[in-house]
Amino acid sequence: MAASDWTSHFVRIKDGDTGFEKNIEFDERKYLLRPYNTGSRKTLFMTSRQTEKSTTLGNKLMALSGMRANYTSLFVTPSAMQTTVFSRTRIDDIVEISPLLKGQAVPRGAQGAVGTWNLLEKQFLNGSRIYLRYAFLNADRIRGLSGNAVFCDEIQDLLQDVMPVIEETVSHHERPVHVYSGTPKSFDNTIEHYWSNASTQSEWCIPCEHHGTPGEPGSWHWNVLGPQNLGLNGPICDRCGNPINPEHPQAQWVEMNPGAEFEGFRICRLMVPWYLKNPEKWQEILDAHRRYPTAQFMNEVMALSFDSGTKPLTRMEVIRACDSKYTMDEAQVANLRQSAELYAGIDWGTGEGAYTVFTVGGYVRGDTAFQILYSKRFDGHLVDPDPQMAEIHRLIRLFRIKLIGADYGMGFFPNKKLTQVYGPKRVHQFQYAARAPGKVIYKPKMHRYICFRTPLMSDIFNAIKDMKIRLPKWEVYQKPYASDMLSIRSEYSDTMKMIKYDKPRGLTDDTFHSILYTVLASFFDHVRPDIIAPIQENSDMARQAKAEEWAMEHLDDPLYYPAY
Ligand SMILES: [Zn+2]
Repeated sequence: MAASDWTSHFVRIKDGDTGFEKNIEFDERKYLLRPYNTGSRKTLFMTSRQTEKSTTLGNKLMALSGMRANYTSLFVTPSAMQTTVFSRTRIDDIVEISPLLKGQAVPRGAQGAVGTWNLLEKQFLNGSRIYLRYAFLNADRIRGLSGNAVFCDEIQDLLQDVMPVIEETVSHHERPVHVYSGTPKSFDNTIEHYWSNASTQSEWCIPCEHHGTPGEPGSWHWNVLGPQNLGLNGPICDRCGNPINPEHPQAQWVEMNPGAEFEGFRICRLMVPWYLKNPEKWQEILDAHRRYPTAQFMNEVMALSFDSGTKPLTRMEVIRACDSKYTMDEAQVANLRQSAELYAGIDWGTGEGAYTVFTVGGYVRGDTAFQILYSKRFDGHLVDPDPQMAEIHRLIRLFRIKLIGADYGMGFFPNKKLTQVYGPKRVHQFQYAARAPGKVIYKPKMHRYICFRTPLMSDIFNAIKDMKIRLPKWEVYQKPYASDMLSIRSEYSDTMKMIKYDKPRGLTDDTFHSILYTVLASFFDHVRPDIIAPIQENSDMARQAKAEEWAMEHLDDPLYYPAY
């Protein structure tokens, strides 16, 4: 018996519109047949919100328990609330309205009940049982359980670290079953990890017969549902704009990554019958398209991973740029100063969401790469300006730093102090601008350099990728310094008509900027056009740059901004 047949026979649901109880119809949900009946022991559902995902999971869970004797399943979500809701609405309520199923379940609350039926455990008369648990930061409540099947819902919110503990529960069984499901988020979480690295990435492909030869499916145009298929009244072909039908007799799952460990199904709202066939519900999708931020629409309606930004540097690229010879040992750095000049960069921070980071680098290697030798983040008591400045003086003297590059942004007063001690020839201030007529431009009146932020940051990212800038040993640099670089995301800004770099709230990126200032400081001695090349401006950019420049020059002008 196929799981879908078992489900049609045993499981009754309440119709969303009428409230009447009825059996599940697979006729208009052909896309669910394979997910229910697949022989694959590992399945992954990547679904949008409101696509009957929990119902599908609950039914698969009960079909496994009902079709086999003495079968034990574990169901896990990230939170107690999600697990409770699932236990009540997807199991208890369904059992309550499905007489045939109820006949298989252990009587609830009845005298002489032969087993357990509560929020966290359900037993069936055939000896099968379902355990329900949750795991967010740790998997303590799961350790020690053992079963034949493991179901994980909302896995986008389960931490990567708990997955091995969950999987351990079925590792002793011969043919363990894994069923995972969730709604996609960014490109950096558990569901995307399984989807892109370990699943068949199966897509429900819908033909448009307006292309190719009639009767020859291979010549038709096949649509994979996405925002390009949003028609005014229903799904349309992304090539010709004619209506397409997700229930087309030839519509089928196609594996985009055949042979992978998990059979992965992407189920989005555009293929669900009650959205498809109800004009009001279809309008809801179009409204969401207009109102939701892009990332939310892509995740929750289209079931597509989408990040508002992508990472300009990968972890691999950062690890590759690290050189284990350089260990951030102060004596080693001071010693290297015997043979080469050293430069420092300072990114000032308040200690709240951003820290002061002091970085040292130089041409100390046998090759032409610029070696970052040392970084220090000022946290704890070193957040306070006086001990912080004392420590910076100590490091500048210990390493006999030749030139210092510092950010102007938050550093007006500390830069002034540094300049008083070391002189204007050794201390240089850099100020980021959203637009500038060149990458680095000296403004004598302002006693500082204006830096065109996006292209300069791109150059530093590229130099790290190309290993023209090298970093200290990964093990010592990883936290918090290298992770500062990995926290930066790039996204296209519609308003600025250019890429912008940003970091998510709660993460820091100060080390990256201190490296950038270190490299800029070294440029007074060694110009490296292969690292930072001059830019060609078009007239439009030049005009915008002029306006930006004007604004910056007047930033300190009391005429426009009264003193505070
Ligand atoms: Zn077409």
